[in-house]
Amino acid sequence: MNRFATSVAASAALFSATLLPAYAEMDVPNLKKSIEASLANDYPKLDALYKELHAHPELAFQEVKTAARLAAEMRALGFEVTENIGKTGLVAIYKNGDGPTIMVRTELDGLPMEEKTGLDYASRDKTTWNGREVFVAHSCGHDIHMASWVGTAKTLVGLKDKWRGTLMFIAQPAEEIVAGARAMLAAGLFTRFGTPDIALALHDGPAPHGMVFYRTGVGSSAADGLEITFHGRGGHGSAPHTTVDPIGIAARFIVEVQSVISREKDPSEFGVVSIGAIRGGTAANIIPDSVQLSGTIRSYKPEVRAKLHAGIERTAKAAAAMSDAPPPDIQILEGTKPVMNDPDVVAAVADVLKVALGDKFKTSPPVTGSEDFSAFAAAGVPSMMFNIGVYDQERFVAARNGGPPIPSNHSPLFAPVPKPTIETGVTAMTLAVLGAFDQKTRRMKETGR
Ligand SMILES: [Zn+2]
Ligand SMILES: [Zn+2]
Repeated sequence: MNRFATSVAASAALFSATLLPAYAEMDVPNLKKSIEASLANDYPKLDALYKELHAHPELAFQEVKTAARLAAEMRALGFEVTENIGKTGLVAIYKNGDGPTIMVRTELDGLPMEEKTGLDYASRDKTTWNGREVFVAHSCGHDIHMASWVGTAKTLVGLKDKWRGTLMFIAQPAEEIVAGARAMLAAGLFTRFGTPDIALALHDGPAPHGMVFYRTGVGSSAADGLEITFHGRGGHGSAPHTTVDPIGIAARFIVEVQSVISREKDPSEFGVVSIGAIRGGTAANIIPDSVQLSGTIRSYKPEVRAKLHAGIERTAKAAAAMSDAPPPDIQILEGTKPVMNDPDVVAAVADVLKVALGDKFKTSPPVTGSEDFSAFAAAGVPSMMFNIGVYDQERFVAARNGGPPIPSNHSPLFAPVPKPTIETGVTAMTLAVLGAFDQKTRRMKETGR
């Protein structure tokens, strides 16, 4: 029994000892050494891939060249690749005997913004987005994820005598508009290619490279969109008594809706309502007919989400009623659910990464941002997303001592240090996949399926 590292494994062993052949323990330190050796060999190619992707990002559902580049990489590794799943998405399958299917997801898309890092591989590319010419940049680090994804695939193929089952590597479009995961599911991701037993993903962020952060349960927020049109009655700005002023109604709503957050929601629970756009009126002396607002609603818990939706609707109706205006048109657009990190999957991955990374593997609080990786858990796949850091430790020390602030994701200055970041991405994800195979294989042996 001492061959088994964890108590879960030990109880599985007790059970299987009488019925099933012994299951070999994962030798994490040796696996880590093999991964590092493989990376020492592969890194120059991953570095070139990363810098090429970084210099030429593509926006949501436009990731044609990016997807083609990844498809070629995966085919060269022996994966069977199907393109155009959910517009520009791709699915790469590698079968290695009987066993569970583990899914690993990367995103493909960049952001409509100008990169200002000054790096020699910075993006200067432009494209058309909503009818306008815009710069494109990988300021969320999805290029780091892609390089880590290819590196993980390569490493796992090299280690194929250490696992049995199927790798399902997917490259998802349009994460930044939280539409790509749904598009791939709608295109038959799980009906055509099978539902994986476990899904894994990583995201980079402003922390020291080498660090890996994880969390059980809620990992990111639910995001819903908000569109409201307040109707009034237009007229001359000098004669407001002949009009119903929708600008005043909208202003009242924007201020009052924050009392849903401060006075109605439990202060210890997370919830945000932000109005990001207001459109109404054309001239100083004209009271317009209507005003439109767009906003975003964020929460972690379904009950908080329901409370915010109800409070927004009530406040909007009341703001209009106070001016004797017609009822507003209120649309709450269901966006994405919170990422739910499955406790069993987290346990399997954490067992391995704690041994491999020691105190560089840490728990972290949920983020207030949203992520459509949640769609795969919502479709019934036990999932885990973890985070990796991207910057030199010294920058954090300098920032604490009054130096330049640390740019976050979506900053024009977001600039991961490629080598240690991608190496950590590959090492952590390869070990996470091996941990997932190990746990799922043991479970299958226990339950006979
Ligand atoms: Zn992003
Ligand atoms: Zn992102």
